[in-house]
Amino acid sequence: MRRRRNVKIVATLGPASSDYETIRALFEAGADVFRLNMSHGEHADIAERHAIIRKIEADTGRPIAILADLQGPKLRVGTFANGEEELEVGQKFRLDLSEAEGDARRVRLPHREIFEALEPGSSLLVNDGKIRLKVETCGADFADCEVMVGGTISNRKGVNVPDVVLPLAALSDKDRRDLEFVCELGVDWLALSFVQRPEDVEEARELAKGRAAILSKIEKPSAVTNFDAILAVSDGIMVARGDLGVELPVQNVPPIQKRLVKKCREAAKPVIVATQMLESMIDSPVPTRAEVSDVATAIYEGADAVMLSAESAAGSYPIEAVKTMNAVAIEVEGDPTYREVIEASRGGRKKTVADGIVSAAREIAETTEIKAICCFSQSGTTAALVARERPRVPIIAMTHVIGTARRLCLTWGLHCVMSEAVTRFKGAVIASARAALSEGFAEKTDQIVVTAGVPFNKPGTTNILRVAPCEERLIYSADPE
Ligand code: PEP
Repeated sequence: MRRRRNVKIVATLGPASSDYETIRALFEAGADVFRLNMSHGEHADIAERHAIIRKIEADTGRPIAILADLQGPKLRVGTFANGEEELEVGQKFRLDLSEAEGDARRVRLPHREIFEALEPGSSLLVNDGKIRLKVETCGADFADCEVMVGGTISNRKGVNVPDVVLPLAALSDKDRRDLEFVCELGVDWLALSFVQRPEDVEEARELAKGRAAILSKIEKPSAVTNFDAILAVSDGIMVARGDLGVELPVQNVPPIQKRLVKKCREAAKPVIVATQMLESMIDSPVPTRAEVSDVATAIYEGADAVMLSAESAAGSYPIEAVKTMNAVAIEVEGDPTYREVIEASRGGRKKTVADGIVSAAREIAETTEIKAICCFSQSGTTAALVARERPRVPIIAMTHVIGTARRLCLTWGLHCVMSEAVTRFKGAVIASARAALSEGFAEKTDQIVVTAGVPFNKPGTTNILRVAPCEERLIYSADPE
């Protein structure tokens, strides 16, 4: 099965998409990566969805990436005697550690470390930013606030503290249990919520022990400030616009998105643009024009992937939402302006042998009749570098490591194919030619470009490029050894 677009689609699974038929239909409609949201669903549900995805993979013969999204240290208020209260602008409201149920004047915030970090003037946002409180005075176990924006506050509503770096562990006890559970299940990507500093990523990496790649969700102002250091220690990034738009003024989100997408491409690490992309399709079979434009903008910016959250997890039209993203992607990528924008933003690199090789592979492929660039890669490095070039011709990522093939499903343009392990470059050329033919990218009379790092078992050594015929007899006659 070959996609007719380069940007990837991430679909979140949930109650609206939990059986084999629906998940398979999502895959066939265009989902390349499935997201399991650990904030919702029991371990048994997660295991069931995981098994279904792996079955679809076996039934279709195509690698599929699974991304487990950890909840992270989400702050929540306690409960109210009446279940909820109405807060009026200008009134005083106290947050404290008392275990008594809340009322119109106070509620429990069961996080001692937050009170230690707050200062007079700090903002607290409740219920996705719908209610805004300003701290007037605070102590070790309370904060007295003025209500700046009022509304209904109810049991266990989430609290964001945007302008303070919180002294919170990056991973809660629940996250640690979830991480171990999904790593044992076998997921390809672990997404970390509310990352604040590079140390948060390093902590998760130590616990993952190489079982999954680490993707940092950028949703805190401190993560935006520390972005370069976080990117350096992450394998991928998600622009998590939901919480980001709560923690920062919403108008700050588009320029941050643009900047982050550009930096990820430069670093050859995949970036997902997420949240509210087709929000109205939760209840409607057609999107708004503005939503279509939002998806298109992320694609024009060069994002590796666009994501569906509630649209595919809990909406009434999950398959239509994937089809819509797929259709928008095909339209945008066929627009000559898209190529102009993508090429203008390529940047001048060529600092290393690997940079030179992948750039040459693209140039050769684009200036001749080459049908595909095949990258032979164990760790995925060569394939990621070729994807950074955003070539006009298809990229086939060949590997004998199933984890690599699955992980690369998130990266722009990579059509991942499993192959036998090879020890010599000629073996890689033959396997690439066979894949180009069998996957429908080339005919026997065509030529391909093959890139690899030799020796094969040493990651990060992209050092070889060959233009090869697709017919095996010709490969042998050119290189009889
Ligand atoms: C977001 O906040 O945009 C996001 C993707 O995170 P979550 O869906 O886990 O809240």
